[in-house]
Amino acid sequence: MSSSHVLVLNCGSSSLKFAIIDSNSAIEHLSGLAERLGEASPQIKYKFNGKKHTVALANGDAHEVAINQLVELVKSLKLDQQLVAVGHRVVHGGEHFTHSALITDTVLEAIKQTATLAPLHNPANLLGITAASDAFSTLPQVAVFDTAFHQTMEPQAFLYALPYELYKKHSIRRYGFHGTSHYYVSAQAIDLLGLKGKPSKIVTAHLGNGCSICAVKDGKSVDTSMGLTPLEGLVMGTRSGDIDPGLFAYLVNQLNYTASQIDTLLNKESGLLGISELSNDCRTIEESAAEGHTQAQLALDIFCFRLAKQIASFAVPLGGIDALVFTGGIGENSDVIRAKVVNQLSFLGFKLNNESNLAARFGNEGVITDQDSTPLALVVPTNEELVIAQDAAKLAEEL
Ligand code: AMP
Repeated sequence: MSSSHVLVLNCGSSSLKFAIIDSNSAIEHLSGLAERLGEASPQIKYKFNGKKHTVALANGDAHEVAINQLVELVKSLKLDQQLVAVGHRVVHGGEHFTHSALITDTVLEAIKQTATLAPLHNPANLLGITAASDAFSTLPQVAVFDTAFHQTMEPQAFLYALPYELYKKHSIRRYGFHGTSHYYVSAQAIDLLGLKGKPSKIVTAHLGNGCSICAVKDGKSVDTSMGLTPLEGLVMGTRSGDIDPGLFAYLVNQLNYTASQIDTLLNKESGLLGISELSNDCRTIEESAAEGHTQAQLALDIFCFRLAKQIASFAVPLGGIDALVFTGGIGENSDVIRAKVVNQLSFLGFKLNNESNLAARFGNEGVITDQDSTPLALVVPTNEELVIAQDAAKLAEEL
């Protein structure tokens, strides 16, 4: 099998995650992170051949400089010869994109138009695309969208009960995110459970700093917990998830909040951090809860209760549940959260296996329920970078 290396870029407002992945063998040849871009003391950290390195950048150096440094690095490591494409993670594809797309002027224009729906993310993604197109001008550039997998949702799942005009004129609807992850882990689970080509009803739970679940019926997303923005749905590290929309008027009229203060409150000061008044990091919350910190215990309880409730509700769009898949930093590592959630769902037939639950950590996949449990629960480590590499290589090959 010939090698087919792809440079995968995930550009945030002050960071750039990168990797070079062989899309055939799934081997990662280089991985790294440029951080504090445009700020004081930016730097690039990377791992090559198992060794970690750090390169300091000058104060204020931004994405262009980081990408140019990356080009030099890739050349000096002699990794440039085998590159077949650059794959970009793009957060919002609106209704334009149901699949990954080769970046042309028209595609670039559509991503720009969608930026109003993701003002924090799409402009940063566009910076990465522009800088990489200049630096790797001979390579095809491919956009892979977080929203694309959920474009199979029906109107009954994606529309809010708002005046229809808001959807028609302003595209206000539920889009869903983490699509690349939900797609990858559901496909892996279908393979693992021998359900390929057969009907399947799977709930995937991507639990990291951001958290969302997805109802995947016969391989297609039919519902998901995030909406117009990645704020809707579950309790997350610093995000509130679902709240009473009446809260907005209350905060404005009674407590004199502005729109941007509400945005900060719900996105950055809520969730595990807001309830615990301690941390947004699940490890810290678990450790403190075990030591008897009451608000950390409460944060864990609320996180798990809300998650279990939403998982059970996805039996409706699926018409039942065959399997529940955990992934993301929390889903792949926290036996504590998985146990609390699966035990709260025992009325559906889940039977947790404590030993398997403890074994499935730190990158190990596996079923965590008893053999006779229906539904099953399992852990599947996600690999969004691999999906981006595979989609980019495929589209480049079709040129
Ligand atoms: P991610 O955004 O997917 O990188 O996930 C980050 C989250 O995973 C953070 O809240 C971490 O605290 C959590 N996490 C990572 N490892 C563990 C662990 N061993 N136990 C509990 N939570 C973990």
